[in-house]
Amino acid sequence: MTVAQDILRSIFGYNEFRGHQAEIIEHLIAGNDSLVLMPTGGGKSLCYQIPAIARKGLGVIVSPLIALMQDQVDALLQLGVKAAFLNSSLDAKSAWKVEQDVMEGKLDLLYVAPERLMTPRFLDLLERAELALFAIDEAHCVSQWGHDFRPEYIQLSMLHERFPNVPRIALTATADEPTRQEIIEKLGLTTARQFSSSFDRPNIRYRIVQKHQPREQLQLFLETEHRGDAGIIYCLSRKKVEETAAWLCDKGWDALPYHAGLGNVIRQKNQQRFIREEGVIIVATVAFGMGIDKPNVRFVAHLDLPKSMEGYYQETGRAGRDGLAANAWLSYGLGDVITMRHMLDSSEADEQHKRLERRKLDALLGFCETTLCRRHVMLHYFGEMYEAPCNNCDNCIEPVATWDGKIAAQMALSCAYRTGQRFGVKHLIDVLCGKITPQVERFNHDKVSTFGIGHAHSASQWQSIYRQLVAANLLTVDMSGFGSLRLTAKSQPILRGEQTIALRTDPEVSKRKSKAAIKREQNGPTPNDELWQALKNKRLQLARDQGVPPYVIFHDSSLIEIHAKKPKSLNEFATISGVGQSKLQRYASIFIDVIYGQPDDEFEVPPEDVVFYDE
Ligand code: ADP
Ligand code: ZN
Repeated sequence: MTVAQDILRSIFGYNEFRGHQAEIIEHLIAGNDSLVLMPTGGGKSLCYQIPAIARKGLGVIVSPLIALMQDQVDALLQLGVKAAFLNSSLDAKSAWKVEQDVMEGKLDLLYVAPERLMTPRFLDLLERAELALFAIDEAHCVSQWGHDFRPEYIQLSMLHERFPNVPRIALTATADEPTRQEIIEKLGLTTARQFSSSFDRPNIRYRIVQKHQPREQLQLFLETEHRGDAGIIYCLSRKKVEETAAWLCDKGWDALPYHAGLGNVIRQKNQQRFIREEGVIIVATVAFGMGIDKPNVRFVAHLDLPKSMEGYYQETGRAGRDGLAANAWLSYGLGDVITMRHMLDSSEADEQHKRLERRKLDALLGFCETTLCRRHVMLHYFGEMYEAPCNNCDNCIEPVATWDGKIAAQMALSCAYRTGQRFGVKHLIDVLCGKITPQVERFNHDKVSTFGIGHAHSASQWQSIYRQLVAANLLTVDMSGFGSLRLTAKSQPILRGEQTIALRTDPEVSKRKSKAAIKREQNGPTPNDELWQALKNKRLQLARDQGVPPYVIFHDSSLIEIHAKKPKSLNEFATISGVGQSKLQRYASIFIDVIYGQPDDEFEVPPEDVVFYDE
C-alpha cells in the first residue's frame, strides 16, 4: 500500500481513489506542480489534503471563500488532522496563536485568504516554516475572463518566485479554455501537468418542465420527490424570491429567502440555517451559492431561466456534491423567453457584449427546447464529447416526439404578419383559433385570412408552437410594443415554404407523475423509517453540541451505509465508507447504541422480583 492509500483509508475512511485522484496525489507528493480541472463534487480537496499530510511541513491552502474555511477546518479536525485557518474573521489573539503553531511546525494544513497570504509579515512567517505545498483553490479567480475575478489572486504568481522549491497545485471547477489559459499564464504554471476530468455530473438528473402553473408544479415536485430534503430554488427577482419563500412557508415547507437586498445579518442567518440544519429550502437569486459546499443539497429548482448554459451548469451543480442522486428541475415557458430577451435588449451593455450574451441565451434556449439527451447537449456546449443516452435526463427517460411543424409555423408566422406585427401571443392565438374577443372585434381581425385557420391545434399547443418559434429566433419580441411578435430574416424561408421545421411535442401538462419523477432512485431509507430518523437525530445533536454542520460528523452516504449494515462491533463499523480512525473512536459506539439500544441501567441491578435460574 502506498502512503497515500494508507492515509486515504486510515484517516478519511475511504477505500479507493476516484478518477485522477491517485495520479494527482502521487505527482504532488513527488514535488511537482499541477493544474487540476475537476467538476464540483469530483473530490478536489483530497488532492491537496493527502499530500499535505504525507509531505513534511505545512500545506498552505489559498481560498477566497472565507465563510467556508471554518467548516473545512472543522471537518479536518474531526478526522484528527492538524488544521487551522487564517483570515479576517479571526481576532488578533487567535490569529497570533495560529501563527505560533505555524512557526512550531504543529500544523499539517493552513487555509488562508489571499490578501492575508500576501502580507509581508505572513510571507516572512512562511520563510521560516517548513512548507509541504501551496494549493490554490478556486484558481479561476485569477481570470478576468471568468466570473469571480479576484485581484488578489494575480499576485499569487510570486509564490513561485519566492518559494521555488515548494510544489503548487491549482484547482478549479471552471473548465472553459480561455479561463484555463489565463490560469496557466497568470500563475506561471506552463510546466505544470494538467489533469482534466469530464465535467459530467452523472448523479444529477436534468429535467425541464413546461411552465403551466409553476407554483403548483413546484409543490408537486417537492411533495413527490423531496420531502425533508435540503434544496435551492432560484428566482430572477428579489420580489419573487420573497413571495415564493412566503408561499412555501404557508404550505408548510421550511423555506428561507436569500438575496442581496436582505442585509448581511439575515443573509448570514439564513445561510447558516441551510448549512447547519437539515431539510431547509433556500429560495434565492443568483446571489446565493458561491462558496456553499453543503454536500447534501438534494435538488436545485429554477422557477426562472438562468442567463446562460454556464449559469445553469453552475447553479444546478450545487446539487448532489456527495455523489448521491439529486435533481435539477427547471420550469420553462414562453414568458421566460420573452423576459430574458427583453432584459438583454434593454441592458446598458455595449453592442458587442450584448451579441455575446444573446448567443449564450440562444444556446440555453436550444438546450431547453432540445429533444436530444440533455447531458449530451450540455457537455457538447462545453466542448466535451458525450455518448447519449445518459438515461438520467427527462429526454432519455421519456423520449419526446417531434412533428413536422412546417404548416403550423407558416400559420403562426403569417398570423403575426397579417395582423401587422403589432400584437402579442395571446391575441395571435385568439385569431388563429377563431375566437371573437373585444380586441379581435376592435381591429376587425375576424376578417384577416388567418382567422380561425388554426383549429387543428388547441390554444395550449399554439402556445408551445409560438414558444418554439421565438426560442429559435423565427420571431422576435418587441417590448416597446407590449410584447408584440415580429418576423425576422430567419422566418422568410419558412413562410415561403422552402424550409421545414421539426417541433417538439410537449407532454400534456397533467397531475400524473412523469416517468422521470417515478424512476428516481431513493437515497437511503424512507423519511419515516424510525431507525433512520434516530440516526439522523443523533447526528444533528452531535453536530449542534460541537457547533458544526451535520455532514461534518457523517456524510449522508455514511449514514445510509450505517443504516443498511447495522454494524455491531467497532470492526464492523470501521468498514463504513467515511469512517477513519478518528471517527471510529469518536462516534462508533454512540451510533451502535442508537441501533441496538443502550444497555439498560435497570438490568444491571436486577430488580428484586427477578428470579434467577439457579436459585
Ligand atoms: P470538490 O471540492 O471537487 O467539489 P470535494 O472534495 O468536496 O469535491 O468532494 C466531494 C465529495 O466526495 C466529498 O463528500 C468527499 O468526501 C467525497 N470524496 C472525495 N474523494 C472520495 C473518495 N476517493 N472516496 C469516497 N468519497 C470521496
Ligand atoms: Zn440524457
